[in-house]
Amino acid sequence: MLGEGILKGLAETAKNFAGSYVSKERLTTVEYPEERIPTAENARVFPFLVYDGPDWQAGMRCVACQICEKECPPKCIFIEKSKDKKPDYVGKQQFYPARFDIDVSVCMSCQICVEVCPFEAIKMNTEFELATDDRFGGLLLDREKLARSNEYYHRIHPTEATEVDGRLAEEKAKVEAKAKAAAAAPKPAATGSGAKTAASAETAASPQKVPPAGGKD
Ligand code: SF4
Ligand code: SF4
Repeated sequence: MLGEGILKGLAETAKNFAGSYVSKERLTTVEYPEERIPTAENARVFPFLVYDGPDWQAGMRCVACQICEKECPPKCIFIEKSKDKKPDYVGKQQFYPARFDIDVSVCMSCQICVEVCPFEAIKMNTEFELATDDRFGGLLLDREKLARSNEYYHRIHPTEATEVDGRLAEEKAKVEAKAKAAAAAPKPAATGSGAKTAASAETAASPQKVPPAGGKD
C-alpha cells in the first residue's frame, strides 16, 4: 500500500512518544549538556598520541617515522623529526616528533593513521566538544594538546588498550630475552683491535707465547 512505510514510522514514533512517559527505555533523548549518554567503547572522533609514565614528552611512544603523515588521506598530519634521540619503551634510542600537529578541521576520523602506526603511538579519542570560534588555528592541535596518557587510553578504550599493553609487553620480553641470550652466548674468537691490545699485553707479560694474528678492525 502506498505510504505504508510512512504510517509504520509514524506509529513507532507515536508509540515511543507516549511510552516515554511511562517507560525509561522509550525515552531515547537526554538533556545535553547537563545529561550525557555514556560514550561507546568503540566510538572514535579525532586521533591522540599515547605516552607512558608521568611525563608526556619523555614517554611519548611516537618515533616520528612519518608513516601516518604519508598515509593520511586528507594530509592533515604535520610531523618534524627530532635531531636527537631518546630511549623508547624497550630502551632503544629512537627519534621523536619535534613537531606533531593534526588539523582536526580537515581530519575525517578514518583511523588510517592508527592502523598504519607500527608503534601503537596514535589512537582515536572520543572527545568531541572541540568547537571554537578560531576555525583554523584553534583546530590545529599540537603534540602537547594531542598527548594523552596510557591510563586515559585505558579509560576510554579498555579492551583495546589492554590488548595493546599485552602486545607491547610480549615484544619487550622478546627483546630482553634476545639481549640476555646474546650476553650469555660464548664470545667468538677475538679478532679485532681490542684482541690485539689484549694479546700484546699478554705477550708482554709472557714473551714465550706467540700472539694470535690480528683480524679486521
Ligand atoms: S583519522 Fe584519518 S584523516 Fe584523521 S589524521 Fe588519521 S588518517 Fe588523517
Ligand atoms: S604516530 Fe606512529 S606512524 Fe605516526 S609518526 Fe608516530 S610512530 Fe610513526
